[in-house]
Amino acid sequence: MSLMEEIYLEPHHHFLIRTKYLFALNEPPLILDGALEIKNLRILRYGAYREIQKEVVGAKLIDLEDHILMPVLTNAHLHLELSALRFRIPPTGKFILWVRQVIKKRMELSPLEIKESATIAIKELLKEGVGIIGDVGNSALTLEPLSKSPLLGYLFQEIINFKGKKISLSPLKEFSNRLRLTYSAHAPYTVSPLLLQAIKAYCRKRKKLFVIHLAESKEEIQFLREGTGPIAELLKERNQWNEAFIPRGTTPVKYLDSLGVLDENTLAIHAIHLEEEDLKILSQRGVKICLCPRSNLYTGAGFPNLPQLLKYKLSLCLGTDSLASNDRLSLFEEMKTLLHFYPDTDPLLLLRIGSIYGAKILGFEDYGTIKEGAFANLVAISLSYPPSENPKEFARDFLFSEKEVKYRFYALN
Ligand SMILES: [Zn+2]
Repeated sequence: MSLMEEIYLEPHHHFLIRTKYLFALNEPPLILDGALEIKNLRILRYGAYREIQKEVVGAKLIDLEDHILMPVLTNAHLHLELSALRFRIPPTGKFILWVRQVIKKRMELSPLEIKESATIAIKELLKEGVGIIGDVGNSALTLEPLSKSPLLGYLFQEIINFKGKKISLSPLKEFSNRLRLTYSAHAPYTVSPLLLQAIKAYCRKRKKLFVIHLAESKEEIQFLREGTGPIAELLKERNQWNEAFIPRGTTPVKYLDSLGVLDENTLAIHAIHLEEEDLKILSQRGVKICLCPRSNLYTGAGFPNLPQLLKYKLSLCLGTDSLASNDRLSLFEEMKTLLHFYPDTDPLLLLRIGSIYGAKILGFEDYGTIKEGAFANLVAISLSYPPSENPKEFARDFLFSEKEVKYRFYALN
C-alpha cells in the first residue's frame, strides 16, 4: 500500500503547482498541462502552465507530473458516530428492519468504540479525497476526532423526540470557523412539529443549515398520511408515540412546508419518494437535496430519481450516509452508482455534485472550489490507466478507473 503525502500549507508558502491534468471542474473543467499558484493559503491564479508561469515570480515549483489535481470532495451527509457498525448490519430489502437493527446494535457500542471507529473513518475520508463533511451525531463523541482532523464542515447535533414540547435549545458553542455546530432534526416522523419548528428557528437565527432526513422510505409516506404502519408500531414500542399527533393525510414535503421549515437553507437528505407537487414545492422554496444512493440500496429504502430532481433544477449534493448502511465512505462510488442507474447522466455533473456543489450548499464554497481567491484545499489523484483528454470522456474514464489519492493540500486558516 502506498502512502498519501499530506501538505499543510502555511501563509509563507508560495507554490506553483504544475500537473498534466488540472481538473478544476468549472469552465473549462479540464486544463491540460495546467498550473496553479498558491500564496498565503489561497489560489492566486490557475490556468495553462505556459501562460501562468510567465506571471509567477519567486514561487517554488511542485511538479505533480501526470496526476489529476482537483478540488476536495464534499461528503454532505454521514454519521461518523455509527462507523463501528460497519459489516454488523446486513443489507436488507426492508427499511424498518434496518432501522431496528441500528437501534439495537448502536446501544451495544461503548463511547470508546464510537470514538476510535470515527477516528479510523476520518482517515478513510481523507484517503477518499473528502475535505468537507456534514456529520450528524446524537452524542458529541465525534467532536474531538473531527476537530483534530483537517476536515471542514458541519457537525449536526441531531434531535430525535416525537413527543417533544416546544423548548428553547441551548446554544452550541463553536470554537473554530472550520467546524460549524448546529442542531438538526432526524425526520418528520421522529421529531414533533413543535420541535421541528424550534430547531428550524435556531438554525435560522444563526444562519445555519437546517438538515432533516426526508421522504426516505415508503413507510414514512404511509405514516404521515395515515398515522399507521411499521413506523407507528416502532414509535409505540419505543414509548415515543405522541397522542397529540394527527395523521396529516399528506406527504412529508407538504407537511414540512405547512410547518414553515422549508427554505433555501434547508437540506433534505434522501428525497426519494416524491410526488410531482412535492418537487414543485421543494423547487419553489429553494430546498437543497443530498442524495445517498448506495445507502438507499443498502437499507431497501428505494432509489433517488435523479433525472426528475434535475428536471426541477434542484441543487444537489452527495453523501455516503453512515457505515451502518454503506461499506465505503467514497463519493466516487456514489457517483458511479448513480451513473450505473442513469447512464445518460453527465459524469462531469456528478463530479461537480460531489465536490463544488456540495461545498457551496454547506456554505464552504471558498474551501472546496478551484477559483481565484479560494483556499487551496486540493487533492491529486493517480489513475490506473491514462484517461481521454476530452473533458466529458475524461470525467467518465476518471470515474470508472481505479483511483488513488496521492497528495493532499490543506489550507486551513
Ligand atoms: Zn442519515
